[in-house]
Amino acid sequence: MADHSLDPKDWDAFRAEARALLDDCIDQMQAAGERPWTHVPDGLEARYAIGQGGDVMQRLRDDVMPYHAGNTHPKYWGWVQGSGLATDVMAGMVTAVMNSNCGGRNHGANYMERAVIDWARQQMGMPEGASGVLVTGTSQATVISFAAARLRALGPEVRAVGQGGAELTCYAGQGVHNATRKALELLGIGAANLRFVPLVDGQMDCAELRKMIAEDRAAGKTPFLVVGTAGSVDLGLFDDFNALADLVADEKLWLHVDGAFGAWTRLADAPYRQLTDGIGRADSIALDFHKWMYVGYDCGLALIRDEAEHRAAFAARPVYLSGKDRGVASGDPWYCDYGIDLSRGNRALKVWLGLETHGAEAFGAAITFNCELARFMAEVVESHENMAVARQPVSNVCVFTLRADLPEVAQSALNTQVAVELQENGEAVFSTTIVDGVEMLRAAIVNHRSTRDDVREAVAAAARAAEAISAR
Ligand SMILES: *Cc1c(COP(=O)(O)O)cnc(C)c1O
Repeated sequence: MADHSLDPKDWDAFRAEARALLDDCIDQMQAAGERPWTHVPDGLEARYAIGQGGDVMQRLRDDVMPYHAGNTHPKYWGWVQGSGLATDVMAGMVTAVMNSNCGGRNHGANYMERAVIDWARQQMGMPEGASGVLVTGTSQATVISFAAARLRALGPEVRAVGQGGAELTCYAGQGVHNATRKALELLGIGAANLRFVPLVDGQMDCAELRKMIAEDRAAGKTPFLVVGTAGSVDLGLFDDFNALADLVADEKLWLHVDGAFGAWTRLADAPYRQLTDGIGRADSIALDFHKWMYVGYDCGLALIRDEAEHRAAFAARPVYLSGKDRGVASGDPWYCDYGIDLSRGNRALKVWLGLETHGAEAFGAAITFNCELARFMAEVVESHENMAVARQPVSNVCVFTLRADLPEVAQSALNTQVAVELQENGEAVFSTTIVDGVEMLRAAIVNHRSTRDDVREAVAAAARAAEAISAR
């Protein structure tokens, strides 16, 4: 008898293996604080080469699980890396068993995605009737949002004939995330048509922005899009969304907000919640669940105020995908009509499970505490002689230098070396960024496991490393 099924031949043996592995996975999650980043050893890639078979469960334990990126660790604050939730382990199992394709058709995962998107819409303060789609992350959500904005500017024919000679221009504050540039490139709008608006006290200068728009109009260009930032990568700064919403209403432009992590200050207490006042007035918001909502990678969201505009930019179903009134092919909306992907995994479940397990208030409290930790880090930094913050933290980002008394080049070299040493010896993970010409240590705290002790210990470790290097 030919049996081509790839299911286990012995389900009891599979069950025993899977249960043992589940225990190991939970052990590793529970011990997140004991397993900082581990350097990948020479030869690891060869051990991954396909075709070796053997004791695959043991290979998972020995060759795979130890070499995580470290971002589950409570002293990991580099870049903006989400820390993950224990409930992701369960969500991952259920997601795998259901193996839902969330591109369309009528099944539970799509209803759950709608519930998750609707919850996020309400938190952001977008009106009922707004639409959304879960995506890989803010980068993809940005492309989707900009495509809808372009369709408004050029009309639906843009989908058939392209944008021709139209010179669309886009405006964003200095320090806008690279995702904006990439989206403009991908859509054929061109990164050279991105205008960087100077900041005043950390926010886009609206008077200057109006001037730039007028100049472009006078030069025959077509301004179409203003990109506000909720949580800038370098310093965690926020634009004034009410001011931007007023401006785009006057200028008849599309307001998009890059809220990758910062949009979630909506769940925080004062004064952090106020950072995103007015964000719901945007035409579109791109945000991530995998950063400051702590769920495992990947999960982002494009939220678009006008469902019709969202759909107009993407809906295109050939006959074989046509919806039906009943049966599997019923169940509008189909998410393939709202984004790039036809086949899509179930990203909603891990968000739903986290929210339903802990409650939204617990997320709000963790987000608020991350902001308080950034301020606390600034205090600890400033209590060390010669150490200084680049700027008092506004939200969850703290950027500092270890020796403000040294010349800029020496400061940069020292800060960079300390960041690398702390990473390599597993004491803490800071990334670096350049502020006012100096490369500094940067902590972006989107980590529900971090404590005040973690901050104290990490800053002390940085100070020790700086001293040791200076003494060499
Ligand atoms: C991370 C980030 C992005 C890109 O989001 P991805 O989820 O990595 O695609 C865009 N903007 C900001 C401000 C970010 O922090």
